[in-house]
Amino acid sequence: MQFVLDGINTSILIVASINILLGILIYANNRKAVINRIYIINIIAIIAWILGMFLYRSAVDSLIFWAIVLYIPPTFIAGTFLYFTYFFPLRDVSFLRLKTALIFILNIILATLVVFPGAVIESVFIRPGMEKSIVFGPWYWLYAVYIISFFTFGLSRLFIKMFRSRNTFERRQILYLLIGYFIAANPAMATNLVLPLFGYFELNWLGQIFTIFMVMSVTYAIVKLRLFNLKVIMTELLVFIIWVAIFVEVLLAETIKKGILKGGLFVFTVIFGVLIIKSVLNEVRRKEEMEKISGQLAAANARLKELDKLKSDFVSIASHQLRSPLTVIKGYGSMILEGSFGEISGAVKNVVEKIFQSSERLIDFVNDLLDVSRIERGKMQYNFEKTDIFGIVSSVVEEFQLTAKKKGLILEFKKETAEIPPFKLKLDANKIRQIILNFIDNAIKYTPQGGIIVNILKTGKRVEIKVKDTGIGVDKKDQKKIFEQFMRIGGANAVGGIGAGLGLYVARKIALAHNGEVAVESEGKGRGSTFILRLPL
Ligand code: ADP
Repeated sequence: MQFVLDGINTSILIVASINILLGILIYANNRKAVINRIYIINIIAIIAWILGMFLYRSAVDSLIFWAIVLYIPPTFIAGTFLYFTYFFPLRDVSFLRLKTALIFILNIILATLVVFPGAVIESVFIRPGMEKSIVFGPWYWLYAVYIISFFTFGLSRLFIKMFRSRNTFERRQILYLLIGYFIAANPAMATNLVLPLFGYFELNWLGQIFTIFMVMSVTYAIVKLRLFNLKVIMTELLVFIIWVAIFVEVLLAETIKKGILKGGLFVFTVIFGVLIIKSVLNEVRRKEEMEKISGQLAAANARLKELDKLKSDFVSIASHQLRSPLTVIKGYGSMILEGSFGEISGAVKNVVEKIFQSSERLIDFVNDLLDVSRIERGKMQYNFEKTDIFGIVSSVVEEFQLTAKKKGLILEFKKETAEIPPFKLKLDANKIRQIILNFIDNAIKYTPQGGIIVNILKTGKRVEIKVKDTGIGVDKKDQKKIFEQFMRIGGANAVGGIGAGLGLYVARKIALAHNGEVAVESEGKGRGSTFILRLPL
């Protein structure tokens, strides 16, 4: 046969080569994955169809044979395409052997039908200056219906899969594939199946050319979304080209000496080429592994957040439930002590006092818990108002005088600054009061002897409230930690009694909400400490 190399046939050959390249790319990337295999078979069928058109257009005799060669591949293109949609992007769970068999059997039946002379193709005529024309047989309609329905079904399957997918990456993968096949398949079906029915054959080669859109969108997807792994493929291709180039050099060597030299170089590049490909493969695998792990981490993280929220909710509910009965206990305790229910003996008074103090401690603890859960859920509410900070500090110091005295400690409020008072600041009085309260309460708790000095001063654009004690001090390494939740330093129990380690955490959060900060200064264990609240003026 004499090959015709007119414009159309040349374009057909170019498109065929591009399809072959894509096939090689995908094969080189991963020939083991089922999805790649199915896809490669699809591409092989497409290439066969394109080359079939080239031969059919070139042929001058055995026309029916060449027409059959041209009409068989589309049955496989349609079959493998539909099959592919059951595996892409992930294998359908409901996919059965039955469906595989059905697609396969239908495919074979249709392909066989084409082979039978007269069934699909009856005769072919050469028309000078025009495309050949075909007289179709009685089974042509079945052929057309088969191909059109397989494609329509496959495309709509991809379409539905795209809509159902929750994964944006996967969605885009499907989208690119869908666009490519949609643009390629529809004109192909129109010009190869429908128009010939009406005796119009002039564009029957257009479908082959249009496969370029399929190639383009799949390649784009490869590059953009790494549908298949591009990096490895590129390395393999590059290394392969270098091998071929050097091998040709070896063959073309003018002298034996040059041949040996170049041969050595060839061996060298082969060894290093293999090593490079292996290392790239390794890198890609590691990267994939990392991606997988980071995905798992993200999922675990989301789950942890969920659990954390559950915990906060639980703490909040439990604390609310605890608070009311505790308040009742405290209330009755105080009434008994005040003699509201008559005189009580010294021993009973002692016991009730303990009940009263314990309930007070518990209420404080529950309140701290509530604060923590509010902070964690972002539900802490602040009422900012211009307030005299000086007044707050001095009233808290007053409140603690008795407690300090009972413990034999001096508690003094030193007004160091010459400026003002009062300092009028925009703040939530109750919350700031809570911080000072916590500082002084701690100072008394953690100071076995000596005393506490509270002072308030202005430094630059800030007001500092300092609570300095002569207590157990805080080690340098612990100074950051004590502002964390449930953080208590060794020795705290022995000196200060039971505590939950929440007070300073809440204090820090409140200070931050005021654009301020809390800090601790201490020379170390046993050398006292100073707790500082800084607020912007
Ligand atoms: P709690 O006092 O209930 O344990 P806080 O959050 O108020 O909780 O304090 C956390 C920890 O910081 C305390 O357990 C203690 O170890 C340490 N701490 C707080 N204040 C002082 C202080 N004035 N002197 C020494 N250590 C302190």
